[in-house]
Amino acid sequence: MHKQLIDIGLTFYLSTYYKSKMSYIEPAPIKDKDNPLESMMQRFDKAVDLLGISEEMYYILKVPRKQVTVGLPVMMDSGKIQTFEGYRVIHSTILGPSKGGIRFDPDVNLDEVRALAAWMTWKCAVVDIPYGGAKGGVACNPREMSSGEIERLMRAYTTALLDVFGPDQDIPAPDMGTGPREMAWLMDEYSKSKGMTIPAVVTGKPLVLGGSLGRTEATGRGVMVSALAGMEKLRINPYRATAAVQGFGNVGSHAALLLRERGVAIHAISDISGAYYNSKGIDVADAVAYREANNGSLEGYTKAEPISGDDLFTLPVDVLVPAAKEDVITRKNVASIQARMIVEGANGPTSAKADDIINEKGIMVVPDILANAGGVTVSYFEWVQNRIGYKWTLERINRRTDRIMKDAFDKVYETSLKYKVSLRIAAYIVAIDKVASTYKYRGGF
Ligand code: NAD
Repeated sequence: MHKQLIDIGLTFYLSTYYKSKMSYIEPAPIKDKDNPLESMMQRFDKAVDLLGISEEMYYILKVPRKQVTVGLPVMMDSGKIQTFEGYRVIHSTILGPSKGGIRFDPDVNLDEVRALAAWMTWKCAVVDIPYGGAKGGVACNPREMSSGEIERLMRAYTTALLDVFGPDQDIPAPDMGTGPREMAWLMDEYSKSKGMTIPAVVTGKPLVLGGSLGRTEATGRGVMVSALAGMEKLRINPYRATAAVQGFGNVGSHAALLLRERGVAIHAISDISGAYYNSKGIDVADAVAYREANNGSLEGYTKAEPISGDDLFTLPVDVLVPAAKEDVITRKNVASIQARMIVEGANGPTSAKADDIINEKGIMVVPDILANAGGVTVSYFEWVQNRIGYKWTLERINRRTDRIMKDAFDKVYETSLKYKVSLRIAAYIVAIDKVASTYKYRGGF
């Protein structure tokens, strides 16, 4: 019964297709069954079973509150009008206004956005911030679009969703393919429509528009805090510990820098150009400086030995941090992992099928919905600062982020002992229990 997907979200279809002279970007087909989002739903089902949640509650939690699909005709630089398809899914508003990023990527489709929106509900609940979950996206390829085209697309998307967004309703943020620049356009378009400046409608804005100090490194910082909390449980001394980090972008490089600051020797890092290993430990600050001077890439980094991306996963390190992309730890490579801990900086880096083998091997996994929640936590702080019209110091933001992450880790850890489950299933239990209990108290809604 639980496997049945009841497809009854409230769907508003607002497409406005131009009758002639238009081109149309076909949304990507729905991906196969063994994708990270399907993996997430398998863990959700497992946690729900352990919690003994009723069937009614199961569907309340599973089916999104609202799904909006919008057709977005955009004037391209060529003078032609191209129509894009965009989505916004509000999975839950039980804990508060919904929160979630906007993804600009050719692979965006409604199914993916639905699952990512649910993911946000669990992530916000696990770190106990008063937000529901949402996600948005447009099927487009920003890498092939000019800045003007992206701006017109972002403004069209905002206009189409004016009734959905709002500082007390639904608060977007950046995701793959969008950043502070796009959030500034969204804030401007929304503010114009309301006749006043409303910074709290979106987070991840540039600092000058009310963005928060500490947001850039927040996710990496949360990874560091949860890695240290896990090491403490496993009695690993950070000053004698080693780590390997896959992905040297925002999350991976900040996690590596901050772990290094706490004494952990970073033996390997990688990015799309390849993986780099140094048995004496990589000078992370030097690698960041190299990347900055080298067009954002580690290609040609000579202070470490090049190894294959696959080999990075099998190194005899204490901590492995996948911080690049989804579905990188699978049944195929899990057997050769030697790390004692995996801290998931990326979303969905481990497939559900690899979970059992990881558990059998006794590897501790700090799951994505906990480990990378530092980002949404500082987004929440940005919203709070915008609402009170005040700016906090970096020191205050870091202190509060660290406390939220550590409290969340401790709660998940205790839950894992109570239910005798992995930290991953425990994190889902904490999140689902919180949303379900809130729903019960509120009734109705
Ligand atoms: P990013 O684009 O800044 O960095 C991604 C890095 O991964 C780049 O260095 C890229 O070269 C590398 N990479 C890509 N494919 C690779 C491969 N096959 N092997 C090795 N490296 C590869 O992205 P980011 O913001 O750091 O996000 C990374 C992950 O963290 C994503 O899964 C994202 O959803 C997740 N995440 C990010 C945030 C955030 O605040 N940025 C918050 C929560 C979760």
